[in-house]
Amino acid sequence: MIIAIDGPAGAGKSTVCRLLARELGYVYLDTGAMYRAVAWALRQGGFTLEQESRAGEMLSKLPLRFVLEDGALVITYEGRRLGEELRHPDITRYASLFSRLQPVRAFLMEWQRRLGAAGDVVAEGRDMSTVVFPDAPVKVFLTANLATRAARRQAEYLQKGITMDYSTLEAQIRERDEADRERPIAPLRTAPDAVILDTSALEIAEVVRELRDLVARKSKDNDLPG
Ligand code: C5P
Repeated sequence: MIIAIDGPAGAGKSTVCRLLARELGYVYLDTGAMYRAVAWALRQGGFTLEQESRAGEMLSKLPLRFVLEDGALVITYEGRRLGEELRHPDITRYASLFSRLQPVRAFLMEWQRRLGAAGDVVAEGRDMSTVVFPDAPVKVFLTANLATRAARRQAEYLQKGITMDYSTLEAQIRERDEADRERPIAPLRTAPDAVILDTSALEIAEVVRELRDLVARKSKDNDLPG
């Protein structure tokens, strides 16, 4: 069973998907973290967008691994676990820039499908319901208005000790949304068969409940487990 959840930055995907996966006993697949890890690893090798033609060769040599451990994705580089460094604003920007590259998307799609085959998965990102898992029985487009998303991101950064000016953050999110929606390969789109959930006025627990109810309804309709 794959639950595919897409949406723009700051819509609350990570938080609610982690909780939903835990409640259902599913694996939580954070594909944004995979794009961030590739960006981080390529930057270690000094990669820039101008070297696009070298991306495939560099990717094949990266000592980057994605494994599932206790229901969660673990990302390692040369055997060392990556975590907080992937959340840095610079890496956020590079993840968005490098995610346009076809070799990067092909490389990660292969990993994502392999990980998705592990069993029951909540997969979140930008192209889960449209490209990576187009046959997922449950598809959701999670969104929220820009002001809410920027405020959520600002609070997240503050918790990590990173101070970011609200209007800068809002502009960055708008720019990233545009780049994700307008790139030629696997752009952020609402799948025609996705349920659209606007979380602007909802608490985290309410969003998780809505998603759980949706999964229960779909499971019943399709005679699926869960
Ligand atoms: O979700 P998160 O903000 O961590 O994603 C970082 C970036 O990775 C996004 O802005 C997007 O460009 C890219 N991404 C993607 N496809 C996915 C997940 C993330 O292109 N499935």
